Amino acid sequence: MLIIDFHTHYFPDKIAHDAIISLEQKGGIKAFTAGTRSALEKSMSEAGITLSVNLPVATSPDQVESINGKVANHNRAPVLSLGAIHPLTMDPGRTISDVRNLGLRGIKMHPEYQEFSPDDPSLDPIWKACITYSIFVVFHAGADLAFKPPFRSSPAKFANLHRRYPELRMVLAHFGSWMQWDDVEKELIGLDIFLDTSFTSGYLDDAKFAELIRRHGADKVLFGTDSPWRDQKKEVAAINSLALYEEEKELIFHGNAEGLLGLE
Ligand SMILES: [Zn+2]
Repeated sequence: MLIIDFHTHYFPDKIAHDAIISLEQKGGIKAFTAGTRSALEKSMSEAGITLSVNLPVATSPDQVESINGKVANHNRAPVLSLGAIHPLTMDPGRTISDVRNLGLRGIKMHPEYQEFSPDDPSLDPIWKACITYSIFVVFHAGADLAFKPPFRSSPAKFANLHRRYPELRMVLAHFGSWMQWDDVEKELIGLDIFLDTSFTSGYLDDAKFAELIRRHGADKVLFGTDSPWRDQKKEVAAINSLALYEEEKELIFHGNAEGLLGLE
């Protein structure tokens, strides 16, 4: 089966080593690769993954343009990239139109690293521009090992954003909100929002995971790992072992991602 990993990270060769060391310390976890693009590609071939999507995060507004220029230069199989934006970006309309012109299909945002709440109305210009230019948004969602509670995002806040902007194509990482599974079930299951599977297996009971996927709709679930923070090969096996139909797995492993990435 064709497998697309919708949630990965790599860093430029020059800074990968230092970035991994500092993120390992911040999160108290060990990376499974050296954090470079070539290390990611090696992990992919061991796991049988055809394509990965790299999710860059801008931690200040002045990084946005240079990140987008760099990732666009390397935006080719087997690793495609999304663009970056920062909540304090001065002209979100221009940034999002640049992202589109650079050939990137979506952007990544992280409520903890970028210190915002998804239902903050000051971000409305970003969501409006994303709708105008048909750019989807991948959000880090829920708890994050590198930060202390209270967390800035929650299933209720994402549901609220979706109700305000139903045309905005949203992808919530970590199956809707990491470690907030009861609220995911209450607030998000069944909504027209994509959920990725990254960093979820082992933290959510397998039977419950499969049940929530089916109730949400396998046509709105994306396989993702969060490599280098999870082992791609083990994540493929974990999702494969869930009690789901082959047709559901086809959607999760590649069909839905192909739609979002315009690969059909
Ligand atoms: Zn991630």
